[in-house]
Amino acid sequence: MERTLSIIKPDAVSKGVMGKIIDRFEREGLKIVAMKMVKLTKEEAKAFYSVHRDKPFFDSLTDFMSSGPVVVMVLEGEKAIERNREIMGATNPKDAAPGTLRHQFATDVEKNAVHGSDAPETAQREIAFFFSEQELVRLT
Ligand code: UDP
Repeated sequence: MERTLSIIKPDAVSKGVMGKIIDRFEREGLKIVAMKMVKLTKEEAKAFYSVHRDKPFFDSLTDFMSSGPVVVMVLEGEKAIERNREIMGATNPKDAAPGTLRHQFATDVEKNAVHGSDAPETAQREIAFFFSEQELVRLT
């Protein structure tokens, strides 16, 4: 079993598609073991995306991520990290395959509806960024 962090980004929350996104994870068999709605501060968004601090899109991205509420979730399942990335689709919705969340719901390469951890180490860091161990539900 593997866990990954998923975020429904401000664009998707304001479009009113968070239910559709959650529905998709449930239908794919990814189990939600923690979930909450938060509005990040600019500083929190910068800390979360610190790996991108030298990228040209960093300031705009962190403005966007702190612009409105987001839904943060921990998804659990076999190969959850890879499966979530497949369900999300490519970063740029222009490259995202039909049927992926980004193809369905993203606006552009920045406002791309969802975030998902990209590796076990990042998943661990990102889950700990938002949740304490007690907040993660045990399924068994
Ligand atoms: N991003 C952006 N411009 C770019 C590339 C990425 O605004 O040219 C944003 C986008 O919201 C993306 C996030 O930065 O989801 C993190 O980028 P990464 O390359 O890690 O993509 P992801 O793992 O989210 O697909």
